[in-house]
Amino acid sequence: MTTSLEDKLKHRIRDAGPISVAEYMTICLLDPVQGYYPTRDPLGADGDFITAPEISQMFGEVLGLWCVQSWIDLGRPETLHLIEYGPGRGIMMSDMLRSASLDSGFKAAVQVWLIEASAALEAVQGRTLGTAGVAVQWAARLEDVPPGPSLIIGNEFLDCLPIQQLICEDPFAGKDGWVERRVGLDDEDRLCFVKSGIPAAAILTDRLPTGASDARKDNVLETCPSVAQIIDSLSVRFAAHPGRALFIDYGPADTEFGDTLQALKRHEKVGVFSDPGNTDLTARVDFAALAETANAAGLATSAAVPQREFLSKLGVEMRAVALIRAKPDAKPVIARQLHRLTDTAEMGELFKAICLSSPGLPDPLGLR
Ligand code: SAH
Repeated sequence: MTTSLEDKLKHRIRDAGPISVAEYMTICLLDPVQGYYPTRDPLGADGDFITAPEISQMFGEVLGLWCVQSWIDLGRPETLHLIEYGPGRGIMMSDMLRSASLDSGFKAAVQVWLIEASAALEAVQGRTLGTAGVAVQWAARLEDVPPGPSLIIGNEFLDCLPIQQLICEDPFAGKDGWVERRVGLDDEDRLCFVKSGIPAAAILTDRLPTGASDARKDNVLETCPSVAQIIDSLSVRFAAHPGRALFIDYGPADTEFGDTLQALKRHEKVGVFSDPGNTDLTARVDFAALAETANAAGLATSAAVPQREFLSKLGVEMRAVALIRAKPDAKPVIARQLHRLTDTAEMGELFKAICLSSPGLPDPLGLR
């Protein structure tokens, strides 16, 4: 019988002590044999969660217009690398290319690159984009995409990057006042959170966001070292050739304290330790921390704009009207999709869009 991922995690903890939350997330989500993403297509009504491009074609279509305007803002380069992080089933890219290709200059310039950790999803992306009419290639890392002007996009990608959790032990001790929250075993050999007894490593506390200084005792702060790595890669790339990166995800505009790690299975929240490797694990994105890190790396940042405002500025309501005109019977369905994407009680307010750019470009469409 094969050892379950849960048993492997327990072995590791028994041998070497508690592991970081980031290590727990990485193993659960990306273990090549038993991890969540490499072993399945988790998206859609029959899967565990649903994302904006899966809800409606309108989402990708209006983002396609954003891409065309960004290509114009970059000075209409002859070759444009359109790079997507974590493309899921490839639906957003397919919808973006359909609307953006209406501009023949953009269509002639664009080369698509996908950065995807899951072989299972890569296969689905290949099928979805096989008829897109533009060259589509995969890269393991941003550094592997040939140099040149680029537009980079990621929807619900940052939320699945591994986070670290810190607990404030002493609000007056600066960065020495934080300890790490790790994953260990309880008396009955079940996975549980534990508090490390020693101050958190400098690598975690050296660059805490400004908001961290408001912490009170026992507040939990989440940081995402992978975001800092991605920002480093962006700043190197954009220093050589101009570009923009657009990230859309869920999270607060300002740093908030609290444990936001969550697990989803079949569209329901379940315990984060309930079924390692078989549930989707995500955490809220700290947009203030993201912008601070990007600014420190020399990138220009837009505000983090709520999804309803961003999509509305890109003309999503007009797109809905056009779709209804073409297919009047679909009106209730399209109206419901629009509601899910933009209503404050649905994705409209919690989800935000933020753009990181090489300095000196005009303000990006919809994020001014
Ligand atoms: N953007 C898609 C899918 C979101 S789910 C949508 O909106 O529908 C997260 C996606 O990121 C999946 O495609 C997953 O396999 C991928 N992913 C997760 N961690 C990754 C990593 N470290 N590097 C590259 N892709 C990753």
